[in-house]
Parts: sequence; structure tokens; C-alpha cells
Amino acid sequence: MATVTASHLVSTVCQVNSHGADTKAANLICMKNQAAITHNGLRFLNMLDRLQMRTNAKAVARQAVKQENPRPWGKIICGKGLNLVFVGAECGPWSKTGGLGDVLGGLPPAMAANGHRVMTVSPRYDQYMDAWDTSVLVEVKVGDKIETARFFHCYKRGVDRVFVDHPMFLEKVWGKTGSKIYGPNAGVDYKDNQLRFSLLCQAALEAPKVLNLNSNRYFSGPYGEDVIFIANDWHTGLLPCYLKSMYQSRGIYMNAKVAFCIHNIAYQGRFPFSDFSVLNLPDRFKSSFDFFDGYETIDAAHAGILESDKVLTVSPYYAQELISGEDKGVELDNIIRKTGITGIVNGMDVQEWNPATDQHINVQYDASTVMDVKPILKESLQAEMGLHCDRNVPVVGFIGRLEEQKGSDVLAEAIPRFIGENCQIVILGTGKKAMEEQIENLQTQYPDKARGIANFNVPLAHKIIAGSDFILIPSRFEPCGLIQLHAMRYGTVPIVASTGGLVDTVKEGFTGFQMGAFNVE
Ligand code: ADP
Repeated sequence: MATVTASHLVSTVCQVNSHGADTKAANLICMKNQAAITHNGLRFLNMLDRLQMRTNAKAVARQAVKQENPRPWGKIICGKGLNLVFVGAECGPWSKTGGLGDVLGGLPPAMAANGHRVMTVSPRYDQYMDAWDTSVLVEVKVGDKIETARFFHCYKRGVDRVFVDHPMFLEKVWGKTGSKIYGPNAGVDYKDNQLRFSLLCQAALEAPKVLNLNSNRYFSGPYGEDVIFIANDWHTGLLPCYLKSMYQSRGIYMNAKVAFCIHNIAYQGRFPFSDFSVLNLPDRFKSSFDFFDGYETIDAAHAGILESDKVLTVSPYYAQELISGEDKGVELDNIIRKTGITGIVNGMDVQEWNPATDQHINVQYDASTVMDVKPILKESLQAEMGLHCDRNVPVVGFIGRLEEQKGSDVLAEAIPRFIGENCQIVILGTGKKAMEEQIENLQTQYPDKARGIANFNVPLAHKIIAGSDFILIPSRFEPCGLIQLHAMRYGTVPIVASTGGLVDTVKEGFTGFQMGAFNVE
């Protein structure tokens, strides 16, 4: 590796901003095929709601004010909005193991800023300080028991954040750490995950009807039945099934629609076929779950894809990959080809990932100060990591789940081949024990050059993004990837495998480098 820093690229990289939120909004509006699905809850300019987020809505409004329609601030900018209910197993910053949590955290405020009424529904894994008990209870049948779930709520950045409280979530996880959301250890699922997420889906279907929310002055009362549910990943695959079997069969939610968004097809929620009975669905849904893998298996993502009105995924290139064959589509390629799929590149949360306001870094910066500030932040990262402080040494960063998907093993194997060059490497990740040990050993092997931290540490992730020259993303597959977006916004050059959303977002030689399919060589 030549001794270069990222400086020659940063000015172009820094111009790259968030992707996708508005396109996503546009796509969802396309689903608004019935007038009944809209509401007249009109939203005033962001300024009035103290929404910090910069969105197209704001720009459009400004233009309208200046040019065509010189109205004073505070006038209506969106005539018709949708009632959107995002449902997911994670919702950052309250709960997050990766991009799913980021998207549930960042996309809804962007949608709200575009004039929609937006709710998220996710589990209450901890006693979130900012979310209050609504005292609203619902009873749902989970397996053969009637369970009572309680809703907690807060209103942040224009979004109703609803948390489903039940021992199946709180008692198991009991903490903000993402590592226990899906199982007691990385790679191990809770045995009752199908029941836990059955409860989440059923509670999410109740929330728009039973919660009388008066969070801001433009919308009040329950969301009602004219809603679009955005179900995310397999944990919400049951939602469209319950919508049809429990509600639409009784004349409720007749205008409601479901968009099912695939964040990662590698996780499908496969269970033994005998578990179908615990889902409390009529037999006619069996075929939607039926997954022919030679074993008696049901597949929740399979059902979500087939029973929803629209199938989305997080980047256009990943959408193509999903239908390209069994390998990339992880055996669901056939059904996705049938339903069709739209890829919309993920956005990042431009409020959380903003170098001009980031509280996790020592000095804030923007495109005009990046050249002066980045070397300082690099030295501060080097100091924090216990590495030799030298702004002329290129620093390569890696952040991600330690699993085969992310290629952290490829990286670890490749390190001996380039560590002799003038460079340092900092790796942050959690996941499989063996891979955690692999990165933790780096310090012993290369005390002057490498550090591996097996921890989930959001402030450190920000420091690495800001302080590194390069961010390496050697993923074997990557539905979208958010880290390269964060890197580009911070003037840090992403070096990425040419897969999934990395292809859509990193422009070779302009905002970063595409490395083809990654392997040790
Ligand atoms: P995926 O969803 O496949 O895990 P993404 O690139 O879409 O990958 O999103 C990863 C998100 O999780 C980013 O916001 C990244 O900063 C964060 N993240 C991953 N690992 C860690 C970690 N160990 N500590 C802090 N944040 C992490």
C-alpha cells in the first residue's frame, strides 16, 4: 500500500449525502392507490416541529415560498399524507444490532418530514427512559396462551415511537445491548422466536386502532384503519397473514396495505413445520409458509413476501441479486421473481451521522474544514487505540458484525499481507466468538499496527468513521450497507466489495473504491 491518505478524495466524498429516504417516500406514495388511504392531517414546516432533519420537503417548501407561492413560513407543504406504520424487531437508537435498527430509527423521521403521519412499533427490550407507559393493554393469542402486551410511547422527531412491552422481550434482553435481541449468544436463536415475533406482529396490528395519540397538533386520535404497514424482515412476515386472517376477514383494515422490506435475505425465520399450529393461522396460509428444502420447514420471510402487497428491498442491485438465482436469493429467488421486488437504496440518519454536530468526536467539521480536522481526529483515534500517533500513517477502519457475511475473516487473513506497509488498522465488531478472538488477537500479533475491539460501541464507531482514512467493507454480500454512507459523509474513503448496495452507493474512483468480489488475494 502506498503511503497515501485520503485527502485527495475527501472533497468529493464529502459532497455525498444521504440516499434514498425521499425515493422511499415516493415509492410508498405509489402504493396509495385509494383515496381512502390518505389523511388530511396536514403538516407544517419542520421548523415548527423543531425537526432538525433537512429534507426535500423543506427545500421544496422553500422554493414554493420563494417562487411560485410566496407564502410565509408555517404554511402547509404537504396536502395529503399517508398513515405509515413501520414494524421491526429493532429500532435505533433504542435497539440496534445493525442496519435494520438504523433504518427504523432514521427513515421514519424522514417520512414524517415529508408530511406523513408515522409510527414505529418495536419491542421494549429495556426500560427506555424516554418512553412512557400508555396504560393501554391488548390481549393477543400467542401459541396456546392469551398474552397481555402493554404499549409504551414517545414522540420524537415527528414520529410516534411505540414499544411493545412483554416479558418475552424485556426479561430476555434486559438491556440496550443488541447482542441478546435474537438469542442468548451471537448466532443462537431463542427457541420461542416464532412466538415472540408473533406477539410483535399482533400488537403492531392493534396499535393504530387502540392508541389514542395526540403527539402533535396536526394529527390526533388513533391512526385508524387506513394505514400502510411497512414490515421489515422475517420477524414481521406474520403481519400480512394476521392482517388478512384476523382483521380483513371481519371487515377491518379493508384499505390497509403491507409493504414487506427485505433487509437481509440470509435471515428468513425457518422453523419446523409442526410450528405452523402455534401461529394460530388458518390452514389456507400453510402454502405461503411452506418451504421445500427437503426438511419439513416453514419460512416466515417466505410468507411475508407472498402475503404482502409490495415487496421492497434496500438497494436496486440487491434486488437484482435476489432474483439472480438460488445462491444470492437464498432459495427464495423463485417466489421473489413471481411477486416482483423494488430496490430502494437505504438512507442514513443525517442527524445522527453529521460531522458538523457529532457529539462523539472531539472536533466537529464540514466540507470546508475537513482537511484540517480529519488529521486531528485521526491522531485522537490513534491515541485512544494506543497506536502510535502519526497523521501521515494511513488508518484503515472496519466496523461490523463479525460473521462470514461481513468478510471479517477475509480481512483477518489478509492483514498479514499488507500490515508490513506503512498503515494501521482498527477493527470494531461483535459476533461469532471465534471471530471476536481473531480480531482481539491482532493487538498481540501487531502491537504497533492493529487493534481489534470486540464490543458494540456506538461512540467508537463514530470515532472510527471520522478518524480513519479508509473504511474497508469486504462483505461477501451486502444488501445495502450503511457504513459506506457514513464514511462518505465524513470524508472517509470506502473501499468496498462490489456487491449489493455497495455497488449502488460507492462510485469507483470518485467517492471510493470498488474491489470486485473480495477474497484474501
Ligand atoms: P448490517 O445491518 O448488515 O449489520 P449495515 O452496514 O447496514 O450492516 O449497518 C451496520 C450498523 O451497525 C452501522 O450503523 C454500524 O455503525 C453499526 N455497528 C455495527 N457493528 C457495530 C459495533 N460493534 N459497534 C457499534 N456500531 C456498530
